[in-house]
Amino acid sequence: MTLFVWGYLPEYEKERDDILDAVDSVFRSGKLVLGPSVKSFEAEFAAYHGVPHCAGVDNGTNAIVLALRVLGVGPGDEVITVSNTAAPTVLAIDAVGAKPVFVDIHEDTYLMDVAQVAAAITERTRCLLPVHLYGQCVDMAPLEALAAQHNLPILEDCAQAHGARHHGRIAGSMGKAAAFSFYPTKVLGAYGDGGAVITSDAEVDASLRRLRYYGMESQYYVVATPGYNSRLDEVQAEILRRKLVRLDQYIEGRRAIAARYAEAFADTDLITPAIAPGNTHVYYVYVVRHPRRDQIIEALKSEYDISLNISYPWPVHTQSGFAHLGYGKGSLPVTEAVADEIFSLPMYPSLSVADQERTIDAVRSILAKV
Ligand SMILES: *Cc1c(COP(=O)(O)O)cnc(C)c1O
Repeated sequence: MTLFVWGYLPEYEKERDDILDAVDSVFRSGKLVLGPSVKSFEAEFAAYHGVPHCAGVDNGTNAIVLALRVLGVGPGDEVITVSNTAAPTVLAIDAVGAKPVFVDIHEDTYLMDVAQVAAAITERTRCLLPVHLYGQCVDMAPLEALAAQHNLPILEDCAQAHGARHHGRIAGSMGKAAAFSFYPTKVLGAYGDGGAVITSDAEVDASLRRLRYYGMESQYYVVATPGYNSRLDEVQAEILRRKLVRLDQYIEGRRAIAARYAEAFADTDLITPAIAPGNTHVYYVYVVRHPRRDQIIEALKSEYDISLNISYPWPVHTQSGFAHLGYGKGSLPVTEAVADEIFSLPMYPSLSVADQERTIDAVRSILAKV
């Protein structure tokens, strides 16, 4: 059977009774939209992060869109982020009419090179948007210093970093606001789409709640700004509640898989993930690097029926849909070099030891040949 980088089916088999009970309990509750499950999940997800507020939204992309709008980002403004990210980070900036400004990444962690941010700040900069990519956090202290100096809000993109720690702080608790995705593959995944914005700022939270609900505080009356229908679904919220209590277990599972990979490839020329000082990695994806990446992927597919993935094969600034941003090839050299050589190994908590060993053996035999 084809082995993929992601898979939720083994987990579903294990948790099926709980998941089906969650669905049934919502269907029987008589309240299908913005009911008790969303409310409880918001309280529990906020508590997990030690912050007072959480607003559930329909997906991670809209979590960023709504948060940017609430932070006052709009047409003509600039938002500093990275090109090595899931396109939605950048789509969200585009959706509010702002201009994404990219800085390059670190060669070892593939995360935002914060030392380049100062030079990217202009009088139009309205927000700093670090992406805690792959499951570990951007170096926050120098970014926070810049944010304070220039009076700029930080919006953390935490779509890949549920539960990640940074010098003892948890991802999502460090910025003015933080956006999460609960896309099924994510470290905390729903059985469909979902997202959330957490914050310590009561006003940010109140504005977010209005924006996700047409701009209303209560039915039929748009208070200040026309909004969206961007609510977290009640069924997904109840499933997420059930899974949130197991989040730390999922993370432990991912970390155990990562430890086995690191050990298995220590004596090879495959570059395994570097962990930045002070970080606890949650391994949303297990990204490795090799100059003959394409050959390795092809051989794994054709000889071993292992179908790998690349996160991400095309840096956002090189995609034709973003040509209008004016970043030519060569403008972000580290981002571009890394994108040609990275790929991801199977990583999800319910990945069996047998399947991981099958992957390790296959990759090792291919490495011996390429
Ligand atoms: C998944 C992801 C998003 C978007 O989340 P969706 O729920 O798919 O809309 C945004 N940013 C990053 C870094 C992601 O990985």
